[in-house]
Amino acid sequence: MNLQAILKRLENCPCGEVHTFAMRAVEIGHGVAGRVGEILRENGFGQRLLVVADANTTAAAAPLFPALTAAGFSLKRLTYPNLLCADADRVREVEALCGDVDAILSVGTGSLNDICRVAAKTQAKPFAIFATAPSMDGFAADLAPIIDNNFKTSWPGVQPDVILADTAILAAAPVELKAAGFGDMVAKYLGIFDWKVARLLVDEKPYCPAVADLMLEAVEKMLSLADRVPLCDEEAAGAIMESLVLSGLCMKLAASSRPASGAEHAMSHYWECYKIMRGIWPDFHGKKVGVASLIMTRVYRNIAERVETIEPTADPITVEAVHAAFDPAQHAEVDRINAIALTDAIPPEKLRAAWPEIRRMALETLPDADRLYDLMRRAGCATEIAEVNVTPELLEAGLRWHPFMKTRILLTRLLPMAGIDVVEYM
Ligand SMILES: [Zn+2]
Ligand SMILES: [Zn+2]
Repeated sequence: MNLQAILKRLENCPCGEVHTFAMRAVEIGHGVAGRVGEILRENGFGQRLLVVADANTTAAAAPLFPALTAAGFSLKRLTYPNLLCADADRVREVEALCGDVDAILSVGTGSLNDICRVAAKTQAKPFAIFATAPSMDGFAADLAPIIDNNFKTSWPGVQPDVILADTAILAAAPVELKAAGFGDMVAKYLGIFDWKVARLLVDEKPYCPAVADLMLEAVEKMLSLADRVPLCDEEAAGAIMESLVLSGLCMKLAASSRPASGAEHAMSHYWECYKIMRGIWPDFHGKKVGVASLIMTRVYRNIAERVETIEPTADPITVEAVHAAFDPAQHAEVDRINAIALTDAIPPEKLRAAWPEIRRMALETLPDADRLYDLMRRAGCATEIAEVNVTPELLEAGLRWHPFMKTRILLTRLLPMAGIDVVEYM
């Protein structure tokens, strides 16, 4: 991936921000597993590596380990049986092993990357990822979703110095994981739409149309590969991986997760926290984000098409109503996240005046939900709530209460002011 070309494209950006990133190299290709040692050395990595993996990713990346040893690296291994979620205790485990190593190599995706991303920051170690599946878009991000106090919040981490992936390994990944990567990418239309809404109503900085365009190009490329996602196709798997890395890079360039996540990610996190509280496996990130994206795309488009005018009032949502929608063990975190009353900055009159433009932006930015459904089925994605173990009751609660998962303006957060019950537009 030509990182310099991306930086060049955003030089002297009209948005006024200086866009930068820390990443030094992204190598995605056939046979990369055998060249990892060479690539790490070229990028200044020392020879003592902490390798964090789980049993699945260790098996998938089998050729990597002898190649690293042959290249002169010494490996200190932390191998989980099966790491299903990134929580604060796992972060501490990685940190505790960092004393006598030069760098951290995370072998895998998602949670394995996230615990390392945070530890690399707190322990000031160089950080590389060897990806085993194109399953989500967080590879190039510098924030990590970590479960703490029964809640999922973004912790500061580092962007990896190097991201590596062997297309032979990516292509052989389970279809469910590759389809999850596809599901995570269809969310981007919603992220960009909610970002535009926030810019319109509260002039949120930094909104950057050039980063939004870069993201949408990555999404379109991904959608064009829908039929090849379920196949063991190295070229398609490599292209999917590139678009996922580019998505994470866009977050770094925008210094915000805005271009990559909107109401759908918040709803998926609501489902996830609900399940974690009850000891239920929350399912793959991109798999449930894909389902949430399909629902939210339909909801936003239905509202834009059917609600021609609104007569907004002051925000009718009370603290008591928000508390009732969350478990008592989550209240402290919910209170912290919602300490700033976001809607104070948006008088009813302003929302009323902005409504025609919000409708126009929704119809312009968001894809047709039936077309999206068709593409997702072809890519092997989950499209129904039952496929991600979400009941109709949890769906309704998630639709209404996800805006309180984040200190951020989403259109869904403003719908109660407009007298719109989101559940009626599914
Ligand atoms: Zn995501
Ligand atoms: Zn810009």
